[in-house]
Amino acid sequence: MSARPHRDDFDKYMVPCFSPAPFIPVKASGSQVWDQQGKTYIDLAGGIAVNALGHANPHLAEALKAQIDRLWHIGNGYTNEPVLQLAKTLVESTFADKVFFCNSGAEANEAALKLARKVAADRHGKGKSEIIAFQNAFHGRTLFTVTVGGQPKYSADYAPLPGDITHLPYNDLQAVSDHISERTCAVIVEPIIGEGGVRPADPAFLQGLRQLCDRYHATLIFDEVQTGAGRTGSLYAYQHYGVEPDILTSAKGLGGGFPIGAMLTRDAWAQAFQPGTHGTTFGGNPLAATVASSVLAQLDSALLEGVKARHSWIVARLAALTTQYGVFSDIRGAGLLIGAELAAPYRGKAKTLTNLAAEEGVIALIAGPDVLRFAPALNISYSDLETAFARLERAIVRFVG
Ligand SMILES: *Cc1c(COP(=O)(O)O)cnc(C)c1O
Repeated sequence: MSARPHRDDFDKYMVPCFSPAPFIPVKASGSQVWDQQGKTYIDLAGGIAVNALGHANPHLAEALKAQIDRLWHIGNGYTNEPVLQLAKTLVESTFADKVFFCNSGAEANEAALKLARKVAADRHGKGKSEIIAFQNAFHGRTLFTVTVGGQPKYSADYAPLPGDITHLPYNDLQAVSDHISERTCAVIVEPIIGEGGVRPADPAFLQGLRQLCDRYHATLIFDEVQTGAGRTGSLYAYQHYGVEPDILTSAKGLGGGFPIGAMLTRDAWAQAFQPGTHGTTFGGNPLAATVASSVLAQLDSALLEGVKARHSWIVARLAALTTQYGVFSDIRGAGLLIGAELAAPYRGKAKTLTNLAAEEGVIALIAGPDVLRFAPALNISYSDLETAFARLERAIVRFVG
């Protein structure tokens, strides 16, 4: 029998594009995680807004186990019952008329951007290809999506990059209105910038983008990979802003921990993707679709109200920590996507703080070097939150001390 894997094996065998924590989680339930040594952590990261209903959720596990004995994969030469059920639910609960499934957020955005380019070419001919995106946005790691993302450090090494992509300052409607033209094919925006610092859009910004896209016949794409699936206290954040996109992308929490991505759109857009124009091997497989349907079934109004209540609880605790230790300068976000920006003396040290937090037994995220980010399970218990914030406070005492 081979020895139990050790963290050193990561450095030995894995492509080093990540730098994982020194401990290895081996088991998790709800919002609690155990590592190889049996130490426990409260999970305020949720696998980066993925484990929307906690680890080892019994409803998801039951649904997955039942499907495992039926049908895993059949390919897109056939459809399947779970994917049709999931598509129907998504259409009935959103602006969309049609859904395309894939396996990740990047793939959903890749599909969205390709669809927008094709719709523009089909309707208006050549030349209408410009994509407007925003500084600090994150849309994934494929060459197209990473170039559309607004952090050049992630794409610069991979030149030559896809062209005709313009980055403008987020929440600056004037900048968009000065720049947009009949050449613009799409505007892609996160309703709340996630990776780039947890920055919510001003409602007037999203409304203004909608009007500008209508005026210039451009497709409005909302990247809800992080904000979707109940994260903000609405099923999708656009519903709480009251602004409908033409294409919406979803992933992360939609699968509750099982990989799935989805691109939701209107009929008039969907018709541009005819057989042969776009595709995927695993997208829409019965296992992922089954789990996602079970996630959506649990995102009822009581759960979404609970998200808003937990938001208020966490924000109040972060405000109290700020009063006591002067550690944060701004607390922002919606629902259970919350960012706490470090005050001036602590800028650049978010990772130091999350490392200390892990030592104390709480898992949190960063969103850039200056922002602590929380994206726990939407159903995290208040007793887990109490424990987590007591541990976080101990980490902060060490951090400022
Ligand atoms: C995580 C994320 C993505 C990329 O999703 P992957 O599943 O990692 O490809 C895209 N957009 C946003 C807003 C994200 O938060």
